[in-house]
Formats: sequence, C-alpha cells, structure tokens
Amino acid sequence: LSDRLSGVFDRLTKQGALSADDVKTALREVRVALLEADVSLPVARSFIKAVEEKATGAAVTKSVTPGQQVVKIVHDELIEVLKGEGEPGTLKIDNAPAPILMVGLQGSGKTTTTGKLAKRLKDREGKKVLMASLDIYRPAAMDQLAVLGQQVGVDTLPIVKGENAVQIAKRAKQQAMLGGYDVYMLDTAGRLQIDDVLMKEVEDVRDVVSPRETLLVVDGLTGQVAVEVAEEFDGKIGISGVVLTRMDGDGRGGAALSMRAVTGKPIKFVGLGEKMDALETFEPERIAGRILGMGDIVALVEKAQETLEIEQAERMMKRFQKGQFNFNDLKMQMEQMLKMGGMEGMMSMMPGMGKMAKQVEDSGFDDKVIRQQIALINSMTKKERANPKLLQASRKKRIAKGAGMEVSDLNKLMKMQRQMGDMMKKMGKMGKGGMLKQAMR
Ligand code: GDP
Ligand code: MG
Repeated sequence: LSDRLSGVFDRLTKQGALSADDVKTALREVRVALLEADVSLPVARSFIKAVEEKATGAAVTKSVTPGQQVVKIVHDELIEVLKGEGEPGTLKIDNAPAPILMVGLQGSGKTTTTGKLAKRLKDREGKKVLMASLDIYRPAAMDQLAVLGQQVGVDTLPIVKGENAVQIAKRAKQQAMLGGYDVYMLDTAGRLQIDDVLMKEVEDVRDVVSPRETLLVVDGLTGQVAVEVAEEFDGKIGISGVVLTRMDGDGRGGAALSMRAVTGKPIKFVGLGEKMDALETFEPERIAGRILGMGDIVALVEKAQETLEIEQAERMMKRFQKGQFNFNDLKMQMEQMLKMGGMEGMMSMMPGMGKMAKQVEDSGFDDKVIRQQIALINSMTKKERANPKLLQASRKKRIAKGAGMEVSDLNKLMKMQRQMGDMMKKMGKMGKGGMLKQAMR
C-alpha cells in the first residue's frame, strides 16, 4: 500500500491550496485503506465524502505534498469521528444497584467481557459487583461465568435450573438489592446471527431491569456483519455504548469506525486478549492510526508543520533583533496572548518573566484592555501598522476615533510598542536562539 501511495504522492506536488483533483486522487487511496481495514462500504463512502468537502481548498504545509496533506486531514477527521461524547472508559453506575446489560452475537466475547469489566469495576473503583448469566440455552455458558467469577473474585448469581431469562434477571435484581451490590451485570445469550426470538428475550429483560448501561459487545475483526449487528441491537434494544473485542488480533479494527457511524454511541472499551485484565479504555488516536495504516505519513506532515512554525518564529526573531517591531507584530503577540490564557498566562510561560507578570498584573492590563488595543491597531492603515513612525497628531486623532477611543489610549499603545520592541531586541541579542525562541516553541 505504501508503494502505491508514494506513487500517487509523487504525482501530486503542486503547492498552495488543495484542489478538488488533489483531494479526489488521494482519497481514492484512503478509500482502499479503509476497506482493507474492514470499514463497511457505506460507512467508508460517507466518511470519504465528508472529508472531501473539508479538505478541498485547505492549505498545504510547505515541503509536504497535497496527497500527504490529505492523509493528515483524514487522520484528524478519523479521530474526531471515533471520539464519542463523554469520557471513554467510564460507565454510568451511580444509584446502586446499577444494572449493566451485555448484548451481542454468540462468540463476540460477552461472557469474557462481563468478567473483565466486573474485575475492572471491583479493582479500580472498589465496586461490589454481581454477575448473572442469562444464557439458558447453553448450560456451559453459565458455568463459564461462574468460573470467571471465582477467578476474578466477583460473585455470580447461583444457578437455578429451569428458569427463563426474565426470571433470572428479576432474581439478579432482587439479589443485588438485598446483597448491597453497587452493580449487577447481566450476560445475555447470543445467537450466531440476529434472530427475533433472541431480540424479544433481550427486550423483555431490558424492560424488567431498565439498565443504566447497555453495552454491545462486537468482535473487532468482523467487518460488514458488525454494521448489521449494531443497527439491529441499537434499533431494537437501544445501546448506550460499544465494546470492541479481539483488538489484539491482526485486524486493523475498521469496525470501530463503522460502529461510530452507524450508532453514534461511544466506544467505551477494547478487549485485547483472553485474560481477565486484557481490557482497556478506548483510545481514538490509537485506533485511527491503526485503521488508516499510514502513520509515517501523518508523522511526516506533523513534523513539517512543526518545522514551519519554528521557521516562522525564527524569521520573526531576526527582525526583532534588528529592532523591527511594528504594530502587526504587536497585534500578533496580543492575539497570541489571548489564545494562551491572557497576559498572565503568557508571561508565566516565558522564562524569567515572573517579575514582569507581576508588574503587568498591577498595571491592570487585562484581556479587555488587550482587545481594545487590538481595536486601535485595526483602525490603522496598512502602512501605519508596518511603520509606527508615521503616527503624527492628525493620524492619531483619526485612529483613536475609528476605534471609539482617546488619543491618550493610543499614546499608551505606542509606548508599549516601543517598549516591547526594545525588549525584543535585547532578548534577541542576549539569546541568539535563547529565551524568546524557547518561549515560542
Ligand atoms: P460470548 O459467546 O459472546 O459470551 O463469547 P465469549 O466471551 O465466550 O468469548 C468467545 C471466545 O473469544 C473465547 O474463547 C474468549 O476467550 C475469546 N475472546 C473474548 N474476548 C477476546 C479478546 O479481546 N481477544 C481475544 N484474543 N479473544 C477473546
Ligand atoms: Mg457467553
């Protein structure tokens, strides 16, 4: 795949903004990558379409090809889509006893995940957990959960022969209340494929316990099937989150994207093995890299962007060293300050500026003042901004009036521009790649 991609990228070397053609060409390769990662076809299609709209016209970083830039945009968008609302790895389990319903196809890893999750809740949050198997069709499944319970030190509901799923669920609820449990987990039966009898059973159980969380357990190695499963379970039962299992395998985990696209529900955990501690919080960045499989390109673009920022900072420094510090520079600094949490935030980040931060604070120089001063600069002509020496009486009056302020305010701003210019010059001479450069990284 890499070879094919670099071939495409070699052809795309135009700089500037991404053209519709650049984007289309690169996205063709991305589409292949997504399908190879087992993202379902309709999901891959609509994802690509969304990225196409976003990427067309976007800027290309210097020394990066348009194709590479597109990959970076795809990567960032992928992370965005994979991120659900809410904190990953957390469950709504207040109001004890909180019921958690585990649903999914047979063999997806429900029973294993029930054990893992119970262990996690016990170990990390000190919860008292009860597990119950509702799998009346396979007696071995009930024993399996009991064995896991013993292994991780979590109670399981005693097995009573002849009960149906709803009866077991009711008994689990009662036991959880009587026994002072924080959480009770219901491990439902699965089928090899979706079937109406099974769905009805899970619906009935849901209505009896009103689960706080309904987690769909999906085999992360499955592709197209995963989408149907998610649609069906979310439509009929209503899920609150997804657990992707078998992410320790060779698969690229495209099911993650499909799950997000189809259900809109957060992916909460990933299963990374058969052992009881092989459950981790879902990390969008990690999965995005894996799905796309173009980590080296993403890293390359990030490096290029970084380099460019440093180059810009260095160019600016050179000018400052020569004593060139105009209103454009001042405005940029001020905007940067606002972005970095205001004057104090910025000063506290610059080494050796602690004392100055105090002075600034005492002078009542806050964000509101910064905004007023930016307004003053905006009221200047291009020439005036680039050349502060132009500002004589009549110009000053016009500028102050334009910003709805007094000439005395403008005088203060000009004083600041001179002082900061001097300071920058000194700092530049002192360091030559020292303080200011560090502060700007
Ligand atoms: P259920 O039918 O949905 O309850 O599935 P099980 O929990 O019984 O799991 C089926 C098989 O998958 C078992 O052999 C598990 O050990 C295995 N399994 C479950 N989760 C994972 C995982 O995250 N990684 C790997 N490699 N195997 C898993
Ligand atoms: Mg099971």
